[in-house]
Amino acid sequence: MDFSQLLSTSFEKNGLPAPDTALARMFACFTEHLLAVNQITNLTAIRDVPSVITKHYVDSLLIADAIPTNARVLDIGCGPGFPSIPLAIFRPDLTIVSLDSTAKKIAFVKESTNILSLNNLTAISGRAEDRSVMKELGFFDVVTSRAVANLSVLCELCLPYLKIGGKMLAMKGAKIEDEVDELLHGKAIGLLGGSEPTIRTWQLFSDNSAETRGVVEIFKEKECGKQYPRAYAAIIKSPL
Ligand code: SAH
Repeated sequence: MDFSQLLSTSFEKNGLPAPDTALARMFACFTEHLLAVNQITNLTAIRDVPSVITKHYVDSLLIADAIPTNARVLDIGCGPGFPSIPLAIFRPDLTIVSLDSTAKKIAFVKESTNILSLNNLTAISGRAEDRSVMKELGFFDVVTSRAVANLSVLCELCLPYLKIGGKMLAMKGAKIEDEVDELLHGKAIGLLGGSEPTIRTWQLFSDNSAETRGVVEIFKEKECGKQYPRAYAAIIKSPL
């Protein structure tokens, strides 16, 4: 099967609309770049094309229907661009900022946006809890994160970036229910002005397997205390 057939098959298996030629071309181009750079710099442990399609692209796109039209989106801890690059390709209406503390990952995201002429994504190198980064970036309708931290840490990093009424989307795997239970035992949501979390789970279908994936959605209902986010050492040492 060639790339566009693999992409169509995985999209279809996972309930996404069939990709048109232009979309398939962009994903093919990004895959080529990702796998080439990955030979030199370690960006991802997922190295074969079918797995990249399902575990990076389709996984990223399965949260797209939770993002309102024309939203301003921040992806905290984007790594080599997940979920932000697939979302920017799939949803030209979105304005996305991809943030990561590792400069070489952001250099890769920047190169990718240039190669793909993605003009709805800006990549920024920095830490989410850094006050100067917060000042520079401002507020967002949606904050996404995949595989970055546990939920109470994520709430402290994500909620301060949201407008009131905006939402954070934390992408999680099979242990999602336990993570939400743990969050509800702490004080993070109350202290940070978050809503009751809602969970949505689904199966991510690969060629011959299925894995549980899901998203925790938390709205920002009230302002966060000005002391949040704290310095990273304090966040980790005494989670809320
Ligand atoms: N979201 C990507 C990468 C996950 S790895 C994916 O799913 O493939 C977690 C990433 O979060 C790393 O690249 C790390 O540099 C970044 N990160 C962790 N804490 C961060 C923080 N406080 N601010 C910004 N980036 C952070």
